Amino acid sequence: MLPYRSLQEAELALGRKLTWAEKLWFNYSAQKSDYYLYCHNILFFFFFFSLVPLPLVLMELKFSKNIGKYKLQPKVRLSFSDMVRCYRDVMRLFVLTIGPLQLASYPTVKWVGIRTGLPLPSGWEILLQLFVYFIIEDYGNYWIHRFLHNKWGYEKIHHVHHEFTAPIGFAAPYAYWAEILILGFPSFLGPALVPGHIITLWLWFIIRQVEAIETHSGYDFPWSPSKYIPFYGGAEHHDYHHFVGGQSHSNFASIFTYCDYIYGTDKGYRYHKETLKMLKEKWSSSSEQNGNGYQISNQDPKSD
Ligand SMILES: [Zn+2]
Ligand SMILES: [Zn+2]
Repeated sequence: MLPYRSLQEAELALGRKLTWAEKLWFNYSAQKSDYYLYCHNILFFFFFFSLVPLPLVLMELKFSKNIGKYKLQPKVRLSFSDMVRCYRDVMRLFVLTIGPLQLASYPTVKWVGIRTGLPLPSGWEILLQLFVYFIIEDYGNYWIHRFLHNKWGYEKIHHVHHEFTAPIGFAAPYAYWAEILILGFPSFLGPALVPGHIITLWLWFIIRQVEAIETHSGYDFPWSPSKYIPFYGGAEHHDYHHFVGGQSHSNFASIFTYCDYIYGTDKGYRYHKETLKMLKEKWSSSSEQNGNGYQISNQDPKSD
């Protein structure tokens, strides 16, 4: 809730005219409590998670050949009931774990200093903070994920996320409730260390969620804007991790590729890509080989 009763009062306090975005924010948030504004995150989770994966899921069901050639595991087709079950289970997870976690973390959000007032952050401030959040999330997630692939972590917690060996967008948050809690830590560590405006926090959770959906989409589109992000792993990088499954010692990072490169956990993936490239070159005359990548090799030599 803003401490000003009118736009004029806000302008007087800031000593300048409000920008159009600040006027918009004033009109929207002036009478709303900080807790209510923070709870928007839950709504965003439901909204984006339900809508963003839909086009690809519909394409998967229709299996258009134009789009099918970009599918990473073309021989795996999930049924409509598999998709409904995945969506239903994740919705249950939202209601029982993610929602309550969001509600309960509000005191921490206030404590670290996430602000809701004016002035609004500049575009550069938002971009830099999001960059820091992504780096922290990626690094923390890498080590936690790698830990979850030990015998205990996998059998007790992480095996649920790997039920989908050829993931779809809806499977991005499909996991055991304890994994959601554990991986929530690196997600929130960035905003805790570099606190910003609540709008930046909303954007962070939305973009991170959309990124996870793309990573689990099962499709690698050459025209995806994410292709221009340096060291970005994308769907191909993480899909391979799911393809290999519980035995995987490759591609633990959730967003970028450099952690796997630095710590040597992408050797199996690189070996696989090299093998694939060689086979494609060898059999380039056969159109049958197009897009059959993961059927050629399922070896994941232990690399750490
Ligand atoms: Zn894993
Ligand atoms: Zn995954």
